[in-house]
Amino acid sequence: MTTSDDVRTAIADFATRIDALAPGSGLPVTVPVTLSPEAARALVEALRAYHDPRDHGVCDQCGSGRLDEDLICTTCGQPNGLFGQLVRERLARHRAD
Ligand SMILES: [Zn+2]
Repeated sequence: MTTSDDVRTAIADFATRIDALAPGSGLPVTVPVTLSPEAARALVEALRAYHDPRDHGVCDQCGSGRLDEDLICTTCGQPNGLFGQLVRERLARHRAD
């Protein structure tokens, strides 16, 4: 049976994931709702299954940040993957010159 704590936790986790993709998106919205147990269960499942199209995975560099559409980490600001490694190596060589 899905409890109100389960719904609150699912909403908080969802909001954390979305806010990481769009920090400072505006004033918070409060949404008081009453749900049947089955609707509460379905809402928790839907929130957990949602994949935001702006979310391009976890950063290889810091391991916790999310990648934006340019594959730049929204937390550490580093480019990800092989492309990011090439950019960092080129920058390091440039700074050494
Ligand atoms: Zn990162």
